[in-house]
Amino acid sequence: MSNSSQSIEITTNFINGHHSNGQTKTMDVLCPVDGSVLSKVVLSTKDDLNKAVKSAQDAFPAWSALTLKERVGVFYKFRNLLEKNIDELTEIVHLENGKIRSEARAEVLKGIELTEFACSLPQMINDEIQEVSKGVECRTTHMPVGIVASITPFNFPTMVPLWTIPNALALGNCMIVKPSEQTPISALKIAELFKEAGLPDGVLNIVNGDKDIVEAICDHPVIEAVSFVGSTRVAKIVYQRATSNLKRCVALGGAKNHLIVLPDAHVDMTATNVAASMSGCAGQRCMAASAMVAVGQVDHIVERICQEARKIKVGENLGSVISKEAKERIEKYITEAEAEGAKVLVDGRNVSLPGKEGGFYVGTTVLDYVRPEMSIAKEEVFGPVLSIMRTNDIDEAIKIENSSNYGNASSVFTQNGSMANYVMDNVSAGMVGVNIGVPVPREPFSFGGWNESRFGVNDITGKSSISFWTKLKKRTTKWNPEAWTNWMS
Ligand code: NAD
Repeated sequence: MSNSSQSIEITTNFINGHHSNGQTKTMDVLCPVDGSVLSKVVLSTKDDLNKAVKSAQDAFPAWSALTLKERVGVFYKFRNLLEKNIDELTEIVHLENGKIRSEARAEVLKGIELTEFACSLPQMINDEIQEVSKGVECRTTHMPVGIVASITPFNFPTMVPLWTIPNALALGNCMIVKPSEQTPISALKIAELFKEAGLPDGVLNIVNGDKDIVEAICDHPVIEAVSFVGSTRVAKIVYQRATSNLKRCVALGGAKNHLIVLPDAHVDMTATNVAASMSGCAGQRCMAASAMVAVGQVDHIVERICQEARKIKVGENLGSVISKEAKERIEKYITEAEAEGAKVLVDGRNVSLPGKEGGFYVGTTVLDYVRPEMSIAKEEVFGPVLSIMRTNDIDEAIKIENSSNYGNASSVFTQNGSMANYVMDNVSAGMVGVNIGVPVPREPFSFGGWNESRFGVNDITGKSSISFWTKLKKRTTKWNPEAWTNWMS
C-alpha cells in the first residue's frame, strides 16, 4: 500500500489462521490524510465471534501445554518480521490513522519493544518454591487464564494491540482482538505476521466490528478476561458489562493531562517539550499535554511555547485528526473557550492542506487564560490544543489538576528537585514526570493511569500485566517418609 488512492480491499476478520469475510455487512474506513475511502471493514456478527472463540478453544490445549520458552520462540520471529515489514506497517498506520510517517514509524518501533518484553518473560517469571514444613513443598505456577479478548482504539493501531497480544499469548492464552473500526488494517497485518512467524492457527483471532461485537465479547460465556483501551465513556460500559458477567477486566479510558510549569523551568527545553507533547500525533495521544498550569510569572515561557507551536505545520510535522467529526469537535471547543474569555495565542482552526483538501486537519492551537471551570479545561479535547491556566500558587496548581476526573499523566517543569518531588507526590495521576512532556514508562515498567483513566486493578503492560494474563496455581506436595504424617498437625 503506497498511497490512499490504491484499490479498496475488504479488511476481513482473521479466524483460525485464515482471512474470513464473515457476514457481508461492511463499513467504509476513511483515510484521514485526504478523506478518501481506504478500505471497507467487515462488521462481524455474533456468529463470527462464536467461530473465533471456537477456534481459540480448539487451539488452547496445545498452545497452553507448551513451555513459556517454547511459546516465546514465536515472538522472536515475530519481532524480526516487524522489523522487516516496518515500511509497510508505517504506511498502513499513516494512511489509516493520519499521523505523519515518522510518528507512525515510532509507533511500530514501540511495538517491537513491547514484543521484546514478551520475549523476556521466561527470565522475568520466577515461580516460587519453598519447603514450608519438613518434607513439604509449596510451589506457585503462573497458568494462562484461557480465552481472552483485547478491544483497541483508533489512535495507536499497531502499538495498542501490541500492548496486549504478545504478553497474553506468550503466557499461554488464546485471544480475540477487536480493533477500532476506524483503523482496522494494522491489526490484520499483525495477525498475518504472527502466522508467518509460526503462531499456530486459532491462537490469535481478529474479529472486526463495532459496539455490537464489543458487547458480545463482554457477554460471551467462554471469554474469561477482557482488556479495553479507549474513551472513558466506553471503558465504563465495558468494565461494568464484563465484570458483571464475572470476567476479569482492565479498561483504560481517556485523559486530561496537565503540565505544571514553574518560573525557574529551563525555557527552551520546556517550550520544545510542551509543544511536542500537545501536538504529537495531532494531540490524539492519551499521554498528550492538554492543559498547562502556569505558576507565577512565566510569560517568557508561554511566548517561547507559542514560537514552537507556530513552527508545527500540517502535512509537515503535524498529521491529521481521525475524522471530520473530530475536527469539528476540536474547533468547537476552541470557539467556545474564546467566547468565554480565553485568549487565542495560536489559532489552528480552519486549516487545510493544499492538495489534500478532503483531509481532516487542525493546526496547533494555544489558548491562554483558560479557567478551570470551562469545558476545554475539564474535558478530553483529543486534538493539538493547549489550554493554559494561570495561578500564583503551587498548591492551587495541584488542586486544579486534581479536580480532573481523569488521572493518566502529569509532568512538572522546574529545576528545583524538592519542588518536583512535591508535585509528583501530590498529583493524582498514575504516570508522572519531571521535565518530560510525555512521561510514558518504558518496558518493563507498566502503563496505566488512575481515576477515570483506568478501571480495574492491573496496568496493561509490563510486569503488572503478568498477573492479569495469568492465574496462580498453588501446589503443595510431600514425598519423603518423614513427612508421611498429617503435615498440618
Ligand atoms: P472509543 O472508546 O470510541 O473506542 C474504543 C473501542 O470501543 C473501539 O474498538 C470501538 O469499536 C469500541 N466502542 C465504541 N463505542 C462503543 C460502545 N458504545 N460500546 C461498546 N464498544 C464501543 O475510543 P477511540 O475514539 O477509538 O480512541 C480514543 C480514546 O481512547 C481517547 O479517549 C483516548 O484517551 C483513549 N485512549 C486511552 C489510552 C490509555 O492508555 N488510557 C490509550 C489510547 C487511547
